[in-house]
Amino acid sequence: MPLVPMRILLDHAAENNYGLAAFNVNNMEQIQAIMAAAEKTESPVIVQASRGAREYTNDAYLRHLMLAAAELYPQIPIAMHQDHGNSPETCLSAIKQNFTSVMMDGSLLEDGKTPAPYKHNVRVTKKVVKAAHAKGVTVEGELGTLGGIEDGHGAGLSAEEARKHLTDPAQAEQFVADTGVDALAVAIGTSHGAYKFTHRPTGDVLVMTVIEEIHRRLPNTHLVMHGSSSVPQELLEIIRQYGGQMKETYGVPVEEIQRGIQHGVRKINVDTDNRLAMTGAVRKVFFESPGEFDPRKWLGPSRSAMQKVCEERMIAFGQAGNAGKITPITCRQMRVFYKK
Ligand SMILES: [Zn+2]
Repeated sequence: MPLVPMRILLDHAAENNYGLAAFNVNNMEQIQAIMAAAEKTESPVIVQASRGAREYTNDAYLRHLMLAAAELYPQIPIAMHQDHGNSPETCLSAIKQNFTSVMMDGSLLEDGKTPAPYKHNVRVTKKVVKAAHAKGVTVEGELGTLGGIEDGHGAGLSAEEARKHLTDPAQAEQFVADTGVDALAVAIGTSHGAYKFTHRPTGDVLVMTVIEEIHRRLPNTHLVMHGSSSVPQELLEIIRQYGGQMKETYGVPVEEIQRGIQHGVRKINVDTDNRLAMTGAVRKVFFESPGEFDPRKWLGPSRSAMQKVCEERMIAFGQAGNAGKITPITCRQMRVFYKK
């Protein structure tokens, strides 16, 4: 099956009230882990690459790895998404590389650090929507300022500061009218990276009233949660047990994400949990078998550890079992949808 526009996956998720994990990738083993998990749980797939990932892998390797995934798993619809495009140029170059979805993050300036004025955000996002929709490619925008930093991208706010920069529902409604994005990343209390919360979250982590209000105003725009790793304590423990140093930290509990899904969240970005799982598995091999020098002996277990996390999220978010229920279409066919 050729790669599909992300929009058709999000539409199916909205019609059937579930969410889709979007997993970040940087190498072959991570793509293999996601696809093996998708096959086992019969899940549609969103794979995403940041600018840093595209630089690390080289676009040509990434493009061919994704083509291999599509060839090996013809029964699974797969969307390939650019995570946090910092400029229209980044998004357009992704589309040239076969990405079927792009995020134009105009909430920050092109440096990926400085919060941008609303006008800038509208201008760059609108430009990307026009070019992407002409090719049937999906667009995710962002409004509000998320906490933390991801792959060098982010305003670097603490969780407490981020709580003061939540997405304004009225402005979200205006933004979608101004730009025509398919999906919107919203700031609802989450932060990028492993160090989200320094104390175990006791009350509500997500500001559910904001999610509800945005969803009420924009029932046809798919909401996206960034920084949504759960940072399982047992994964931190494995890293510590085998010589790693992880400070005390907590993520977004899966139950909170499930509540978000009930109110229009359709795409949930997960990266940190997979990084933790892979790192723990590699450390374990090196600790237990210091004489080991065959890369397959540590890359293999790290791949299995990531697969386990992917399967758990696919089941928890409700995407499991849906791969075969989606009628796949190509980006080319999708162009008609946007001409209406
Ligand atoms: Zn993000």
